[in-house]
Amino acid sequence: MSTPHILALSGGVGGAKLADGLMHALDDARLTVVVNTGDDFTHLGLHVSPDVDTALYTLGGVANPETGWGRRDETWTFMDALAKLGGETWFRLGDGDLATHVERTRRLAAGETLSAITADFARRLGIEADIVPMSDQPLRTHVHTDEGIFDFQDYFVRHQCRPVTRSIEFTQGEDVRPSPAVRAALAALADDALEAIVICPSNPYLSIAPILAVPGLRDALRATGVPIVAVSPLVGGTAVKGPTAKIMAELGVPVGAEQIVRYYGDLLDGFVLDVRDAHLQERIALPVHVTDTLMRTPQDRVRVARETVDFAKHLKSRA
Ligand code: GDP
Repeated sequence: MSTPHILALSGGVGGAKLADGLMHALDDARLTVVVNTGDDFTHLGLHVSPDVDTALYTLGGVANPETGWGRRDETWTFMDALAKLGGETWFRLGDGDLATHVERTRRLAAGETLSAITADFARRLGIEADIVPMSDQPLRTHVHTDEGIFDFQDYFVRHQCRPVTRSIEFTQGEDVRPSPAVRAALAALADDALEAIVICPSNPYLSIAPILAVPGLRDALRATGVPIVAVSPLVGGTAVKGPTAKIMAELGVPVGAEQIVRYYGDLLDGFVLDVRDAHLQERIALPVHVTDTLMRTPQDRVRVARETVDFAKHLKSRA
């Protein structure tokens, strides 16, 4: 018999929490987490892959619980020394975190792919899930604002999302395609193993949209014929953290979970709505599961993950 398989799409902190819950909730199923690399950039000569690292550290149990990004028990000798030399310090790289970027950059330069390196890092961190960059080729997010066009990290970290967003653009070369591991996970369908696709509660515009912008990926997900469900990244009408609600407002979209459903459009078969937004259920023309989606503890993550997978399994795909 084939092993049941769940595919999740994730950005950074919000998405990684549910991905971690899925990993711990699925006793006998395989989990593949497809992670956004639209935020990747070269910094201090190093290839930094922020969402991939958040997934690695969170599922590897070494994430910083206060920030959600970076490593726990981190030291900052490198950053302090860099500051004394007058180097760039707006993007904080802890000493342990730095090792990830140095080793990744070395292996990329030696000709390995981002997905092969990520798979090896995940194995070394003891992660029992496949962490898969959406593509091995660059597709980058740029934010057009009232203060100019910014690369994603410039907007997100250096300018702390302050400029007003006008539009979001993804730039890519001609050869961008889903990474081999994404294709392999979709091919798991050949033996009917894929049971559900979960869109984690990540920023739809900045974290999930780049994944769906990889040529062929959105159609390939839809064509699987398995139920696709999204967990709301809005709780009580606003974002738990980060600029999701701010960006919606700036793009002229009413800030509400029902607009997230509208944004994903025909991709979705069902939606997990936070209990604080239950009154919006009647505005959503899809099957809805209402629950407390706020993940404060590891137990919350597992509960939301279990409920989401159970809900998806009871749905029929509209493909
Ligand atoms: P980033 O790239 O690190 O900003 O992280 P993501 O894009 O993955 O996640 C940002 C989104 O996650 C925001 O819309 C938050 O509201 C949402 N989020 C964070 N924590 C939670 C949570 O516990 N429950 C839910 N439902 N959403 C969350």
